[in-house]
Amino acid sequence: MQVFKFGGASVKDAAGVKNLAAIVQNYKENELLVVVSAMGKMTNALERLTFAYINQRADVQNIFAGIRAFHEDILSELFEPAHSVFNEVENTFVEIEWMIEEEPHDDPDFIYDQIVSIGELVSSRIITSYLNSAGVKSRWLDVRSYIQTDNTYREGLVDWEKTCASIRQDIPVLLQKEVVVTQGFLGGTSENFTTTLGREGSDYTAAIFASCLNAASVTIWKDVAGVFNADPKRFQNIVKFDQLSYAEAMEMAYYGASIIHPKTIKPLQNAQIELFVKPFLTPLESGTVINGEELQVKTPVIIVKTNQVLFSVSSKDHSFITENHLSEIYKILAELHFKVNLTQNSALSFSFCVDFVTSKFERLLQRLKPDFNFKYNTETDLITVRHYQTALLQELAAGKTILLEQLSCNTAQMLIKAES
Ligand code: ASP
Ligand code: MG
Repeated sequence: MQVFKFGGASVKDAAGVKNLAAIVQNYKENELLVVVSAMGKMTNALERLTFAYINQRADVQNIFAGIRAFHEDILSELFEPAHSVFNEVENTFVEIEWMIEEEPHDDPDFIYDQIVSIGELVSSRIITSYLNSAGVKSRWLDVRSYIQTDNTYREGLVDWEKTCASIRQDIPVLLQKEVVVTQGFLGGTSENFTTTLGREGSDYTAAIFASCLNAASVTIWKDVAGVFNADPKRFQNIVKFDQLSYAEAMEMAYYGASIIHPKTIKPLQNAQIELFVKPFLTPLESGTVINGEELQVKTPVIIVKTNQVLFSVSSKDHSFITENHLSEIYKILAELHFKVNLTQNSALSFSFCVDFVTSKFERLLQRLKPDFNFKYNTETDLITVRHYQTALLQELAAGKTILLEQLSCNTAQMLIKAES
């Protein structure tokens, strides 16, 4: 069997859904599980809705109306008005409607997952119905009954044992009869609440299913021709990789290449399942294959992680920064689920760089305050170059303010002031 994952960009409008159906048509003789993301930028819109609701802002209903209208436009382009999908989608929205009529009392991360998950629930409804109307027999599957997580909302930790057991029990039989369409990015707790797996987590969902079902391959359909040595939207003169090793792809994802979610590769590597990254607009192109073949990469790989914040922390009593201080700082970062992207220490200070996440930034400041003095710089970008050459580093740094720089034999990193 194979797993396909379609991201938001591939299903951003009615034409995208039709294109997805055309791709699936060509594979439907094989057993196929399709994982879909929310359509277009709907996850961002649902995030805005969540924060507007939590802060009880006046624009809540407006944002919600916009999200509904976006889906209704797509629905009416794809289906006759009497089609049952209109009701299915409406029922999903009604749950949010009820929720936002009440005042928010629950934990914000919990609320976030209950609202933001609607994007995938709705897109998968629309896509399943469209596949069926296009003659591809398909079944909608509620992923929350299969991917079991703990209750770390916004960053659900997958219980692999339970998850694989339930996937293996039900899905193979279904796949023999029809294409199974399910939601990326979502999970369910043992109390049947919805969790999410972290932004851009649909790739990870595809990898979980593939790994549990021992799939022949996973294909991620993208709006680019494959994996490049730098973001095509940011750099010119870039090259596409025809093949990459799991290890190289994992490094790229780790440093922030947005092409693949970082948690995706490891389960595929463990089960030796090939991962294809292919263009959804020209599906016959070969794209990039990621597998266990170790090829020496000579091309420099440039990864830009924007929206970073650099902290410089010192102890309140001006003593040396010791391992005790470091472990205290790391404990705080771990509890708040910050991923540390770069660190450097000197005698009196410890510098670290993390993603700037508005919703928990204030909490981080509050937690550091009692024991540490600190300064921070927002609006910084972290540039990582694997297999670097000095000339390229100079070119990338030209005219930029470098706040921190680190070189190892294979990887160079610089944190620069973002261009305004
Ligand atoms: N829709 C979710 C997001 O945008 C998950 C995904 O696209 O992978 O983060
Ligand atoms: Mg998305």
